[in-house]
Amino acid sequence: MDNEILRVIKKYFGLASLRQGQEGVINAILAGRDAAAVMPTGAGKSLCYQAPALMRQGLTVVVSPLISLMKDQVSALSDARIPSAYLNSSLSFPDYQRTLAKASRGEFKILYIAPERLRREEIRSLPITMAAIDEAHCISQWGHDFRPSYLAIDGFIRSLPERPVIAAFTATATPRVREDIIQNLNLHDPYVAVTGFNRENLYFEVQRTERKLAAIEDALKSRGNKSGIIYCATRKAVDALSAFLRKRGVKAARYHAGMEDAERQKNQEDFIRDRKPLMVATSAFGMGIDKANVSFVIHYNMPKNIESYYQEAGRAGRDGKQADCILLYSPKDAAVNRYLITAPAPDRDAPRPETVRRNLALLEAMTEYACSQDCLRSRLLSYFGEEGPGRCGHCSNCAAPFEEADITIASQKIVSCVYRIEALGKRFGKNLVIGALRGSRSRRVLGPGLDRLSTYGIMRDTGPDQIRVIMDYLIENQYLTLLEGEYPALCLAPRSKEIIIDRKPLTMPMARAAQIPAASAPDEAGFDRALFGRLKALRSEAAAAEGKPPFMVFPDASLKDMCVKKPQTLEAFTQVFGVGAAKLKKYGGLFVAAIKE
Ligand code: ADP
Ligand code: MG
Repeated sequence: MDNEILRVIKKYFGLASLRQGQEGVINAILAGRDAAAVMPTGAGKSLCYQAPALMRQGLTVVVSPLISLMKDQVSALSDARIPSAYLNSSLSFPDYQRTLAKASRGEFKILYIAPERLRREEIRSLPITMAAIDEAHCISQWGHDFRPSYLAIDGFIRSLPERPVIAAFTATATPRVREDIIQNLNLHDPYVAVTGFNRENLYFEVQRTERKLAAIEDALKSRGNKSGIIYCATRKAVDALSAFLRKRGVKAARYHAGMEDAERQKNQEDFIRDRKPLMVATSAFGMGIDKANVSFVIHYNMPKNIESYYQEAGRAGRDGKQADCILLYSPKDAAVNRYLITAPAPDRDAPRPETVRRNLALLEAMTEYACSQDCLRSRLLSYFGEEGPGRCGHCSNCAAPFEEADITIASQKIVSCVYRIEALGKRFGKNLVIGALRGSRSRRVLGPGLDRLSTYGIMRDTGPDQIRVIMDYLIENQYLTLLEGEYPALCLAPRSKEIIIDRKPLTMPMARAAQIPAASAPDEAGFDRALFGRLKALRSEAAAAEGKPPFMVFPDASLKDMCVKKPQTLEAFTQVFGVGAAKLKKYGGLFVAAIKE
């Protein structure tokens, strides 16, 4: 590594070495090359522009949308004796003028600017040699946080007498958003770095359930006083859930944008200082908060997109210890989100059709994750353009036993339905086809007369998620095609006839939990809560003895199945969900003895 870089980061930031990814970006910028860096939150993006800013001639402007954080950044830089300042709407006019004058005299190395300010004439005469664009995904309409003011950046750069080096930074960019960043900022042959989205210490879990309060109670029971965040979709849900928990004696703080500032501030403090280990909040909570010992993040509702999900879930396990990210999913979540995306908010204009379409596509990807049978970690990583491990062995899908499920009949039903819709001269997306198959009475299904098709309602008994999983399998294997377009529509593929004419037998790997609803949602009548508690304690002991996390011994679904089946012999124990030869040998005796007792 370049000694000069080391000297600078030591002198100004007290750092001994660069992290993965930083070196490449810094070297590129120092060589005068544009750069685009996609690195997760906490990876150290600031250093990638701050260090070169100190080593290069002239002024570096940093475009950032977070006005509230600019002040903190500048005071941290000032503490490190780096001449810096910010220009945004929070400054009084005299302060603004003064800062501007100093900047044009070359008194600063780093100047933070809100994107709206770039339209101002006076900014253009500053001695700018580098432009760092933070939160660069804001420039893409395909991102989750599009800001039109970011589109002014390119015009601003073109208006400068000399083109500065441009470096763009973001924590969440899909390959598509990355393309937009490079295009819209007009980066010249940029050095692109995508690093380290994988967080090995995080365990990803999806629970598909309608009984979410019970799931929360369950999750909290085994977690004692550990610190955690529960994210809810709405303020109302935050209020209801935190009241529910407080009534049960759980110390839960709450946080959402509808509360008084003072109370919000206090609750945040209570959480950060561990006076209350649990925070129940909307997505308004968390930005700029760095609490290392958060040991779990539960999503009570499915978020609108994977970007938000990964960012929120990623607040768990910052200390590097084992932590859990649990998503509670019910099909209702997808419907509510769809409504929120398409319906205008009371005090706003109707959303633009392109915006609606993009947000629906992001929601679709999120829903696919929630319903996926694949390794969850690999899904997340590949969404962000990084190669996944295939099967990580450390997510609920990898932990659940898979088996080949016969989907011959289901496939015939799905493909016939698509065929009948095409015969009407129409095409619809997945959700509508699922609605038709399940005999939905919604306007969107009845409107086009799908209830008159012979395939209407023929999959009433199959859950929407299971239909979706099979549909995705059919699309992946070219038995159906998903047409890209305004709204992605399902249509027949050349291989469709193998299903409806040749009646080809078809199987696909499916998590056993997905097939046996009884295992994941035991009915209260046949379910022994006391036994469940006992088995959980036993599991914790076994896990502690082996120094591994409890879910590696048995997932909750297995314990629940034991409570339903109550096996009294090793033979019967093999019938329990998730019990294979190895687990039978290792834990069979232990658990059967406890159940007998
Ligand atoms: P990001 O913007 O990517 O979310 P930050 O730039 O805010 O991350 O940096 C996160 C933390 O990592 C900061 O506390 C910073 O001091 C620290 N950090 C950055 N680079 C290094 C490094 N090379 N060695 C040690 N710590 C670092
Ligand atoms: Mg940052």
